[in-house]
Amino acid sequence: MTKKYAVRNIRLCTKDCLCLYVCPTGATDTENSVIDIDKCIGCGDCADACPSGAISMVPHQYPQQQTKNTEVTAALRKLIASKSQQESIALGLDGKLARAFEKSNRIMAEDIIREAGYMLPQSDNSRKFLQTIIEAGDDSAKEKAARLLELL
Ligand code: SF4
Ligand code: SF4
Repeated sequence: MTKKYAVRNIRLCTKDCLCLYVCPTGATDTENSVIDIDKCIGCGDCADACPSGAISMVPHQYPQQQTKNTEVTAALRKLIASKSQQESIALGLDGKLARAFEKSNRIMAEDIIREAGYMLPQSDNSRKFLQTIIEAGDDSAKEKAARLLELL
């Protein structure tokens, strides 16, 4: 089984309750509310005990990303293009509703891109994408892509 560690979502956490009592290593009881992964042994007791669903068990190593077939990639691209077009249309309109449309289309497009695996920093797609920019982009884009690649 993949080794996991606990991560607390601070926004959901109601503070100072069960995980502090069940953790066998004291990993949940930290000054900054971030679970200490050096102490966490991945037992999952805190996640089971949390009444707010604020703790998730996260694998130390993510599985290899699955290759998407061309039909799936083409459908994702089409959807992204359509969301981007709707964002541009909303951009040209006045009013709060138009701003909301603009932002919601941007968020949906980003979600689709993320779902396609292009925005996961650890994904091979992201690395390959940055590599293509380094090979073919202008100087400023190359430099930024190389820097991003370094940071991944
Ligand atoms: S998974 Fe276990 S060791 Fe890790 S923080 Fe939760 S209770 Fe503690
Ligand atoms: S049990 Fe859940 S809600 Fe309570 S302190 Fe721990 S993470 Fe926060």
